[in-house]
Amino acid sequence: MTGLADIRSTFLNYFNKQGHEIVPSSPLVPRNDPTLMFANSGMVQFKNLFTGVETRDYKRATTAQKCVRAGGKHNDLDNVGYTARHHTFFEMLGNFSFGDYFKSDAIPFAWEMVTKELAIPKDKLLVTVYETDDEAAEIWKKVAGISDDRIIRIGDKPGGGSDNFWQMGPTGPCGPCTEIFYDHGDKFWGGPPGSPEEDGDRFIEIWNLVFMQYEQFEDGSRRELTAQSIDTGMGIERVAALLQGTNDNYATDLMRALIEDSAHKTSTDPDGPGKTHHRVIADHLRSTSFLIADGVMPSNDGRGYVLRRIMRRAMRHAHLLGSQDPLMHRLVPELVRQMGEAYPELRQAQALIEETLKLEETRFRQTLDRGLKLLDEELSGLSDDQALPGAAAFKLYDTYGFPLDLTQDALREKGRTVDTDGFDNAMAEQKAKARAAWAGTGESADLTIWFDVADQHGATDFLGYDTETAEGQI
Ligand code: ATP
Ligand code: MG
Ligand code: MG
Ligand code: MG
Repeated sequence: MTGLADIRSTFLNYFNKQGHEIVPSSPLVPRNDPTLMFANSGMVQFKNLFTGVETRDYKRATTAQKCVRAGGKHNDLDNVGYTARHHTFFEMLGNFSFGDYFKSDAIPFAWEMVTKELAIPKDKLLVTVYETDDEAAEIWKKVAGISDDRIIRIGDKPGGGSDNFWQMGPTGPCGPCTEIFYDHGDKFWGGPPGSPEEDGDRFIEIWNLVFMQYEQFEDGSRRELTAQSIDTGMGIERVAALLQGTNDNYATDLMRALIEDSAHKTSTDPDGPGKTHHRVIADHLRSTSFLIADGVMPSNDGRGYVLRRIMRRAMRHAHLLGSQDPLMHRLVPELVRQMGEAYPELRQAQALIEETLKLEETRFRQTLDRGLKLLDEELSGLSDDQALPGAAAFKLYDTYGFPLDLTQDALREKGRTVDTDGFDNAMAEQKAKARAAWAGTGESADLTIWFDVADQHGATDFLGYDTETAEGQI
């Protein structure tokens, strides 16, 4: 059992046997939730059940949830191509208790799932708990029988917050959490959680269990919740990777098929110098296709702009592979072959996805080349440690359609950065000019609304660089 379909059904069936309702994934665009750009964890569709605003006829649920983390607080866009474990689109398996069972059941469920159902060897696993959560540490010791040095206590970070304390937002339900890690062995660089090398690719987090224990109030005080709840999330691609004997999500059968298709269609080597390009393309193909299937269309603000940013990033990588013609739409059939059975909406939207990608890529190619040339010219006039001036990044954005993060992605390969404050200033200046120009025409009624929204949120926010307020992390 190593494929996604098997892992998914094993998980859902196990929790179903434990009295959990199998609830379908919600769409990527959260319903009635303007605070969140995209579903980024399994708990998003259950938010109101945790706060008690809504009740349903079940108190336990299990899901395989589509997630996108490409903006806001949980933004993994910049990790893609650089880490072995991050995607912008991924699937999160979860079990949930709404005021029903708590820690003493959630931990044994997770342990049985991981060590029996998935048959992951116990000696490769370690767990983290919040530093003061003695209760969770005790349960782990009893249930898993692992030694104390494999139960790692994690406190708050210097700047506040903790990987092991979860909050939905500044107020509301919150509580400690526990994360399960798999050790891929010393052939990989990295250290255990809490160590300075924790971001390496050796110890990989596979599952996060949140214990919703408190309610946080505005004045900083907390009360113990009467209805304590459980919210968990396990990344299916990371589990598939370890069951397939690799620490690299991009080496799993599904991602590999997409990467090989990208290599084949560009007549390049999947593991050659263009390796990173293929990984980014395969990842972004999934997020863009699933977003379009869920009704998001490329546009110049909000969700649509996040989609456009992801697409254009992928298109630059396709261009760097030497692809002369638009590439992304030609990769959709393989994606549908791989994922269409589990996600019929992909099949249904296939034609729309292909057309949208083709149109976007055809258009973007008209300016991409010239934009990249301009970028090179700008850089050649700077010393190695100078950041790209904000005005240049703004020109790339405004004239050549380069989202800011695409420029940053291009520069990161060269170890360089952008002056983002300068970019924001250039944007603000242009808006002020546009506003002044419109003021004289007597036709500005509608546009002033746009300007006001943009002003309220700041340029980059308005463009979807950071629009989340509520935290949907697990
Ligand atoms: P990491 O620390 O590795 O970035 P996380 O703590 O941010 O992960 P959670 O918010 O706890 O992740 O999400 C629950 C689970 O979802 C994780 O344990 C992991 O298995 C999976 N997951 C999270 N982010 C990603 C991603 N970008 N790509 C693939 N899987 C992910
Ligand atoms: Mg993360
Ligand atoms: Mg983590
Ligand atoms: Mg986590």
